[in-house]
Amino acid sequence: MFKISKSDYVLGVKCPNAIWFKKLRKDLQPEFNTALLEQGNAVGALARSKYPDGVHITDLPWERSAVLNTQRAIDNNAPYIYEATMATSTGEYCAVDILKNNNDGTWDIIEVKSTTKPHDYHYIDISFQKYVFSKCGLQIRDCWILTLNPEYVRHGELDAQELFIAHDASAEMQSMETVASEVERIRNILNGPELGIAISKAKCNKFYECSYKNHCWRNVPPYSVFDAFKVALADEIYAEYGPDLANVPADQYVRQMRSGDIEAFLSNQEICNPDILRQ
Ligand code: SF4
Repeated sequence: MFKISKSDYVLGVKCPNAIWFKKLRKDLQPEFNTALLEQGNAVGALARSKYPDGVHITDLPWERSAVLNTQRAIDNNAPYIYEATMATSTGEYCAVDILKNNNDGTWDIIEVKSTTKPHDYHYIDISFQKYVFSKCGLQIRDCWILTLNPEYVRHGELDAQELFIAHDASAEMQSMETVASEVERIRNILNGPELGIAISKAKCNKFYECSYKNHCWRNVPPYSVFDAFKVALADEIYAEYGPDLANVPADQYVRQMRSGDIEAFLSNQEICNPDILRQ
């Protein structure tokens, strides 16, 4: 049985090839970005000071002890639990940045981000967290994404209360039924054979630029239909003619390009017929 973490889930929602590569093609793994991790850790520590006196679960999220220590903190009615971790009996698991005790039998999930506003995939990430914790029996009331306040100006010591803004995530989150069916879809992908690679400008840049592009886009020329055309049209042209601009009928598409790209497009086709531009 494959274990599914929150980053696995986001990757699986983005692209079936990507989750398959992550779990089953260890030879393709991109380099780990430690600078990003350190930045996230520093922001996470600052965010914890906004919600003081919590219990910090320091075990790694895939360790059984993380779940046991989280359960102990819940039983002890801790006001906040940092890196609270739960795992379902079917193999989905995650750590929540800050679990807030509402003292009425319900808990809030607070996801900390080092961006200045929430992004699409943050809502998908927090939906999975709610799914895991709910499935483990915890009653989740509200979910929040905590981002940096772009208007914060430091005067002396950092003020964690002013440094962060909490965004109510509820309206943008996936329903628990959607998460359940996405988890099932991801498991079916992982239990099946390796799929043919299907690239697209929309998908490969969805949420963030995919780290498997070096592999999947290896046959795309340095200047291709993906550079010359906007997202939806680029994918449409790619499906019809492939990535190479030399195969794209100039008279049909040249007017739909950004003006700065027209010269490169025509020179790529080894033609430079000014009549095309006058048509
Ligand atoms: S590069 Fe595109 S096709 Fe390849 S894994 Fe990433 S999103 Fe999927």
